[in-house]
Formats: sequence, structure tokens, C-alpha cells
Amino acid sequence: MGKRYYCDYCDRSFIDDAESRRKHLKSVNHERNRKLHYLNCRDLKTLVDEESKKEECRRFRSTGYCPYEEICNYTHYSKVELQIFAAEIAKKEKEKADSLNLPCMEDWLKKREDNLGKWKNFKFEQYHPLQTSGVLLPPSLLPPTLEQMRNTQFEKWG
Ligand SMILES: [Zn+2]
Ligand SMILES: [Zn+2]
Repeated sequence: MGKRYYCDYCDRSFIDDAESRRKHLKSVNHERNRKLHYLNCRDLKTLVDEESKKEECRRFRSTGYCPYEEICNYTHYSKVELQIFAAEIAKKEKEKADSLNLPCMEDWLKKREDNLGKWKNFKFEQYHPLQTSGVLLPPSLLPPTLEQMRNTQFEKWG
């Protein structure tokens, strides 16, 4: 048995020689299967883009049937259907953009400042009896002030 050529689009194999291959690739069936494969693999955005450019298939619109089916040169999608798809895409894109929106630094600092304000009257010594009042924490242990945070020049990571 000789080598077989398998065509993914048509889901069939045949003896692999130049002549059969050429004949198959030029066959109407193969062309149709290849086109169908492409049409079915389009994402929704490509589908809307491409179908919106085509004119409506009058035959399909009026009778609900068209002999060319999916590979018709005219679109079998109605304007309303395409609008619904477009709205779906827009919604998904917005959700994606929102999920990428990181909180803004200023907002975060403001929130932190407010939170620190709540603790202003907190007496550290009260909760740590061994700590005598007036003992200062080493500077490296002090939380930075809002001003310091704002003025910090972050150096690049080596
Ligand atoms: Zn094929
Ligand atoms: Zn049609």
C-alpha cells in the first residue's frame, strides 16, 4: 500500500500522488469543504465583519431556503441578527477592558490615608504593656507617609 494523503477538510484520504492530489485540491467538493471549514471556524467578530459587508440573500430571506447554504455569496444573516452579535461582542470587549482596569494609585493612597485616620487615636502602648511610651520605632519600620509615597521615585528593577 502506498502513502496516503489525508485531507482534513474533507475528512477522507486517498493515494498520495501528484495527480490525485492536484485533482482533489481542485475539486468542487474540496473547495466547498475548505470554505465551510473556514466559515465555521470564524470567531464572532470576523463573522459580523464579513457578513455585514455582504448583501442580504433575497432568496433565503423570502423563502428561508437557498441552494448555496452557508457558502452563498450573499449573507443569510439578517441585519437584526448581526446587530445582536455585534452587541454581544461589544459587551464582551467591555467586560475584558474592565477586568484589566487596575485601581488607580491616587484612589488607593486616598483610601489608605482615610484608613490611617481611623487609627489616629490608637495607643500602641495600651496593647503592648512592655513598650514604654516615647519609644520610637526604627525608621525602616515606620509606614511611609502619603507625601513620601507620592514623592518616591521607583527605581527600575535590575
Ligand atoms: Zn479535500
Ligand atoms: Zn443564499
